[in-house]
Amino acid sequence: MKQLLIILFSFLCIGAVSARKPIKTLLITGQNNHNWEVSHVVLKQILEESGRFAVDYAISPEKGADMSGFVLDFTPYQLVVLDYNGDAWPEETNRRFEEFVQNGGGVVVYHAADNAFPKWKAYNEICALGGWEGRNEDSGPYVYWQNDRLVKDSSAGQGGSHGKQHEYVLNRRDKDHPITKGLPLKWRHAKDELYDRMRGPGNIKDILYTAYSDPSTGGSGREEPLVFTVDYGKARIFHTMLGHAGPTPEENPAMQCTGFQVLLLRGAEWAATGKVTQKVPKDFPTETTTSLRSEYKEKGN
Ligand code: ZN
Repeated sequence: MKQLLIILFSFLCIGAVSARKPIKTLLITGQNNHNWEVSHVVLKQILEESGRFAVDYAISPEKGADMSGFVLDFTPYQLVVLDYNGDAWPEETNRRFEEFVQNGGGVVVYHAADNAFPKWKAYNEICALGGWEGRNEDSGPYVYWQNDRLVKDSSAGQGGSHGKQHEYVLNRRDKDHPITKGLPLKWRHAKDELYDRMRGPGNIKDILYTAYSDPSTGGSGREEPLVFTVDYGKARIFHTMLGHAGPTPEENPAMQCTGFQVLLLRGAEWAATGKVTQKVPKDFPTETTTSLRSEYKEKGN
């Protein structure tokens, strides 16, 4: 009996440990037309404060420097978070990243990461939509929400723009995706950019949230796809265009927004595991009220 109890206890311990084992995550950064010095620290803080992730950085050489040594090993990781928009990676890193994704690795595409590498075909398929860096009708169609569905529009023009930063309402478009399950149909995002006129291969799998890009704030007049998953073989890819980094972690409303943080955490967990085990928090924004987590963690945590 005593032996049985010991065996049972051991099983319970192993179970408890594996349930708490953090998701090994590689965050790639080091060059960006954005404030990556703030964003990469904040992304790690959000992910690790949740207790679900352990984040390592891959920080590239600075822009214009020799990139040949930036050869990354993805094999220890379940999840890659992309916070990079800069010089080309070495071919070997590109090849390994494609292999990681094709083998079912999880990916989070964060904000301006979808500006990167306009000529790298697989990377653009991993993002589904991108902008700037010379993108145009050759990059793929514009994709936006119209008449209750995503439409692809092959008309000519630049890919990627945004009006001035402002608060706006996100509109949920999926019915029952694990990432959005229990989240509101509408919620108010803190002050952020609203990417519009994005274009690319357009291989969106599940559109999760769109927002209206109002011409009065310099927008497109379209309902823009901002949060979605990507259809790319066995991979699970979560793409959020939200979260333009501010000048400091303290002055950073788009990333302090509870909605941004909760979607990042849920999207990251889903990308890594295919499941979302997180409860919907009480401080999630409503349609009319924004909610900030200035410390980048759930209040009371
Ligand atoms: Zn931005």
